[in-house]
Amino acid sequence: GRRVTPGCAPVSVGCPARARGGALSLLYEAPDRTVCLFCRSAAGAFPAEIVPKTPRVVPFRDVNPQAPTHVLVIPVQHAANAAELADADPGYAGEVLAAAAEVARLEGLGNGYRLVANIGVDGGQTVEHLHWHVLGGRPLTWPPG
Ligand code: 5GP
Ligand code: ZN
Repeated sequence: GRRVTPGCAPVSVGCPARARGGALSLLYEAPDRTVCLFCRSAAGAFPAEIVPKTPRVVPFRDVNPQAPTHVLVIPVQHAANAAELADADPGYAGEVLAAAAEVARLEGLGNGYRLVANIGVDGGQTVEHLHWHVLGGRPLTWPPG
């Protein structure tokens, strides 16, 4: 797939959420009134050139890539993690997972790749909005740290 600068890459194709006129009503506010970082991503803060079939999912490149391809795939609607979305809306959870696999295909990861969804403190989750990491483009070691 094409390489772009990680993070706020220049857009060649608009972010679907932003193209619809933004998704501000979907922005999740934490109790301390801070707005969820990845709700802002879903609204187009980190545009990427990858466009999946579903408009309910947004992919963007990780700002700190751990592999030649490192894309984050998130639902437009806020969910804290994969377990929460699977519980609340299994159909939507499946849609996000299918979009992650679609992104891997679009990125040319036919030789294999890794999907990771960190959950909670021990899982190493640092942003509390569900994101599948799509990692590939090099052989990945196991077990993870
Ligand atoms: P976690 O540790 O929660 O599984 O993954 C969070 C990921 O989000 C990390 O890989 C981190 O590099 C990425 N990230 C954090 N802030 C930003 C940002 O502002 N822009 C982008 N593109 N990625 C971010
Ligand atoms: Zn959010």
